[in-house]
Amino acid sequence: MAFKRDQTKNVGVDDLIMLSEVSEKALLENLKDRYKEGLIYTSIGPVLISMNPYKQLGIYGQDNINLYKGKHEFEIPPHIFKVADKAYRALKSEGENQCIIISGESGAGKTEASKYIMQYIASITGSSDEVERVKKTILESNPLLEAFGNAKTLRNNNSSRFGKYMEIQFNLAGDPEGGKITNYLLEKSRVINQTMGERNFHIFYQLLKGSSAEEKQSFCLLPPEQYSYLNKGRCYSADGIDDELSFKQTKNAMKVVGIDEKTQREIFSTLSAILLLGNVTFNAQGTGSVVSDKKLTASISNLLGVEPSLLESALVSRMISTGQGARISNYQVPQNVEQALYARDAFAKAIYSKLFDFIVRKINTSIEVKTIGKVIGVLDIYGFEIFENNSFEQFCINYVNETLQQIFIDLTLKTEQEEYVQEGIKWIPVEYINNKPCVELIEKKPIGILALLDEECLFPEGNDQTMIDKLNKHFSNNSHYSKVERQKNSQFIINHYAGKVFYNIDGFLDKNRDTLFNDLVILATSSSMSLISEIFKYVAPIETDAEQEKKNLDKFKKNGFANTSAKSYIPTDKKRPITAGFQFKNQVSSLLKSLYSCNPHYVRCIKPNENKRALEWDQEKCSEQVRYLGLYENLLVRRAGYCYRQTFTKFMRRYYMVAKSTWPKWSGDAQKGVELLLNELNIPKEEFQFGKTKIFIRNPQPLFLLEEKRTAR
Ligand code: ATP
Ligand code: MG
Repeated sequence: MAFKRDQTKNVGVDDLIMLSEVSEKALLENLKDRYKEGLIYTSIGPVLISMNPYKQLGIYGQDNINLYKGKHEFEIPPHIFKVADKAYRALKSEGENQCIIISGESGAGKTEASKYIMQYIASITGSSDEVERVKKTILESNPLLEAFGNAKTLRNNNSSRFGKYMEIQFNLAGDPEGGKITNYLLEKSRVINQTMGERNFHIFYQLLKGSSAEEKQSFCLLPPEQYSYLNKGRCYSADGIDDELSFKQTKNAMKVVGIDEKTQREIFSTLSAILLLGNVTFNAQGTGSVVSDKKLTASISNLLGVEPSLLESALVSRMISTGQGARISNYQVPQNVEQALYARDAFAKAIYSKLFDFIVRKINTSIEVKTIGKVIGVLDIYGFEIFENNSFEQFCINYVNETLQQIFIDLTLKTEQEEYVQEGIKWIPVEYINNKPCVELIEKKPIGILALLDEECLFPEGNDQTMIDKLNKHFSNNSHYSKVERQKNSQFIINHYAGKVFYNIDGFLDKNRDTLFNDLVILATSSSMSLISEIFKYVAPIETDAEQEKKNLDKFKKNGFANTSAKSYIPTDKKRPITAGFQFKNQVSSLLKSLYSCNPHYVRCIKPNENKRALEWDQEKCSEQVRYLGLYENLLVRRAGYCYRQTFTKFMRRYYMVAKSTWPKWSGDAQKGVELLLNELNIPKEEFQFGKTKIFIRNPQPLFLLEEKRTAR
């Protein structure tokens, strides 16, 4: 059969299901050959594989948008626009929520892909003023979130240091009427520290390089090298990033999402305060400490709108309560230099991550819709991470990937196999890794790693060592867990679907507790600057009785910290503090709920080399990613199966006109019609099977033929 394909180049196969040899090697070979020719997209049935080309290919312009707009999926080569178009068409025709799950490791091209999807949807949809405003806000949210949430890392000059799920809601006409962004786990440790060669979040450099002389003076800005929070990585610029220009874009994006000029200035003032906090040092005094440079803390207080004496005391001392009920007594405990530095850093991280949440809230307010409508969700979330040293962050990231893989299995492999059984199709089942036990090891209550971690965080004497002993004790018989029998007992292993990962327990408890002492929270809520008091309103480090807390707070504000009697601030009802792990787990479970209610589409991104270089192919790296992404397994199931299935009725509705025997109208039994039609076109018998209600077609070629004939009519 000869098929006219709308494609200038055709290297290898553009759907791996058509490979003549099914092996991991052949799969990789095909990706490689295409990549070398600039064909970065390849599919496995409905799953799109995208290779980062590390160069501009000129395939995202209006002409390409027109090429993909409203086309039937078999007519055109794989492309990110094709995925976007398919999701959009399914939303309109089936009236179902859609989600596009983009995965891949850092630098593989997830964020770029998500932006192309947004761009495509924006350009193919309608044009009332309100729709245009919503589209503009959605598009402008990207540079804004990237300014605050992205940073130069060794792997990617524009690495997203947070996960993001963006939902676009459509009205009945199919035009965007609003949306919502959910953000996940910002890497806030970057605010205070960076690895050599990496940078802090882009916005800091934008502010320092792009601000006017007036702004520099008002916000007390210094050159980047002079901030201890910026000079750890010894890196102040990044290839391909123009901080000065980006600052203009950030300001513009703020305007578009409705952050007014006054608030913008408060944001810049806050950013400057964060940077200066990093320069605060302490001198030992008795058992405690004092700030070394009072002028500096005064300047920070001014930028944050708080009393200088309160800032100082909140950094160098801490209120601790003992006893229970009416017998609670509070003491002001001096902090030594190390503890004061810890409080300083915790404060800087908290302000920044709350500022980030505030920006997300602002965007959400400007695109909020009251009505319920159908959505397309786009998930751009960090891929599986295996580093030399894997800590709590990698644990969380890998946990979310493990759950996403579970959805992938559930939605693509399992449902596919179930459908064959249901339809009575002859079929050899394919073994797939069931990673549910691994997900359970992490999240099961009451005995899962996260639950045990929370429990350990509640014990005052709990520490990383007691934690790992506990894990080793509970999971000694779990096949997804291994303990490490080596020198210092500080590592444990989780056997993830993508491979074994060694986690280092050091810092787990601290990161999970995510402690920010109440003193600093109270200080911030007392700020005269509306931004600061607002962003801290949302915090509940230790849940207390609201009434009592307010009274204490008022008294505290009136008297000032130093004069406050020991009983002035009483947390009346000590409940469980909300830990970072607990929060993350809740987020993940609500994400899963959303994703399960959608018709899923997958984009699997691959980074072809570590050097950000065009045309370079690193066989080992690529093969590793193919494995992490479960692509070969995916291909096996797809191959064993059928690339197309449709009810007899719908099939006839689309194709009755391509055969004489069913033309100009088919009103008989639908299955009979399909039989006549396929017979007349000489489609070989082994290419299809009849199920109970559906026709299953094995390979896409017959479909190309059907589509071609249909268009020719
Ligand atoms: P991270 O997890 O670190 O956020 P990521 O998967 O989101 O990584 P991107 O930021 O999307 O990676 O891509 C990294 C860089 O690769 C981009 O800044 C861009 O230079 C290049 N790139 C990615 N996709 C494409 C593409 N389709 N065309 C051209 N260049 C691309
Ligand atoms: Mg990204």
